[in-house]
Amino acid sequence: MIESTDFVALQDPDVIGGLDHWRTLPIKQQPTWPDPAAAEAASAEIATLPPLVFAGEVDNLRDRLAVAASGGAFLLQGGDCAETFAGATADSIRDRVKTILQMAVVLTYGASMPVIKMGRMAGQFAKPRSSDLETRGDVTLPAYRGDIVNGYDFTPESRQADPRRLVQGYHTAASTLNLVRAFTQGGFADLRQVHSWNKGFASNPANARYEHLAQEIDRAIRFMGACGADFEALKHVEFYASHEGLLMDYERPMTRIDSRSGQAYDTSGHFIWIGERTRDIDGAHVDFLSRVRNPIGVKLGPTTSVDDMKALVDKLDPEREPGRLTFITRMGAGRIRDELPKLLEAIKGMDANPLWVTDPMHGNGLTTPTGYKTRRFDDVVDEVLGFFEAHRQVGTYPGGMHVELTGDDVTECLGGSEQIDEATLATRYESLCDPRLNHMQSLELAFLVAEELSA
Ligand code: PEP
Ligand code: MN
Repeated sequence: MIESTDFVALQDPDVIGGLDHWRTLPIKQQPTWPDPAAAEAASAEIATLPPLVFAGEVDNLRDRLAVAASGGAFLLQGGDCAETFAGATADSIRDRVKTILQMAVVLTYGASMPVIKMGRMAGQFAKPRSSDLETRGDVTLPAYRGDIVNGYDFTPESRQADPRRLVQGYHTAASTLNLVRAFTQGGFADLRQVHSWNKGFASNPANARYEHLAQEIDRAIRFMGACGADFEALKHVEFYASHEGLLMDYERPMTRIDSRSGQAYDTSGHFIWIGERTRDIDGAHVDFLSRVRNPIGVKLGPTTSVDDMKALVDKLDPEREPGRLTFITRMGAGRIRDELPKLLEAIKGMDANPLWVTDPMHGNGLTTPTGYKTRRFDDVVDEVLGFFEAHRQVGTYPGGMHVELTGDDVTECLGGSEQIDEATLATRYESLCDPRLNHMQSLELAFLVAEELSA
């Protein structure tokens, strides 16, 4: 992945000017910086720092997503709801990468289909919130908006938005991505290591099933080796970084003009998505991301109308460019079978070919009487099944899955073969935001999707 590093500052004034048009539009979910001049200075500093990803990589990803949109590959996108600065340790990054690699092996082997591997990683630091404020007892403070804005501790100091966190976000993303690149390019992700990715995880039914599959893969590799196959292609894995493009004081200064093409790339990540709460057609986020070349995702919740969706296609993908636009549906298990088919039908009449991805997490949230935000593994599975059913019904391609997961054995989602129940949630609930599938639940889900894909 040697690419042009040649992002230049001076180019077509229309391109440059357009990149600031969002400033004139309604905008949601931005922090109130106590000292706006300090936030401006932090953004200006970020603008001088090197890009995190290169235009050529972003273009490669767009090509890969185009294949998935036509049914020839599957996107696997996963990681924390909210990455934290403290969580950017070697072990945590490694275990998330390993979990995604394992899921990808299960999917590739089970479905005989290339899998595009993508982390919600190296920049997933900003969170939209349903309320600007959080109240505990008789104390009300600003809501936690992610480590790139403020601290999670419930004190006035910690909850105040701090622009120095913007720069720290950049550096944490850089060191995360550096390690991800080392893992995926330096031999660790070589398919001949397929067993070793399972090491260190507690033994459980999904791991055992995985071990069995890894043995089959080993045997196939040995057979191919005996036949004289060249394993060069197994040594490196393409692994892409993605996050929600939410915090404009970070995304804008990370956006640079590529000298090869004169076009703008948001170099904070390969793939950027727009959340359910900020996808207003006339809002700042949609306008800004319509002007960068990165492949763009948009979350679509259960209330998305056909007209909303059509307007998003026209604004974000006017050229109908394969791989440009991904719709990530998060309708909820109870609604996907009613809501998704209409959208899929409408797309057929639009000469558009977005990639359709299921996010079976965000439509299935619930809060336990004890106050834990959680999701039932069964609901997650049911939404995935509904997603496949809807696509089969309409004749479109179910092209990927977007999940919140961690490599750790946390207890944040209910169910799965460990049968995590409400009482167990407390034993290891670590997410600062939404509940994640743990390592075993992630593998279980991958086996299930592999079955659907090969059905
Ligand atoms: C998320 O992906 O963490 C998120 C906030 O999702 P959505 O925009 O779908 O609610
Ligand atoms: Mn989330």
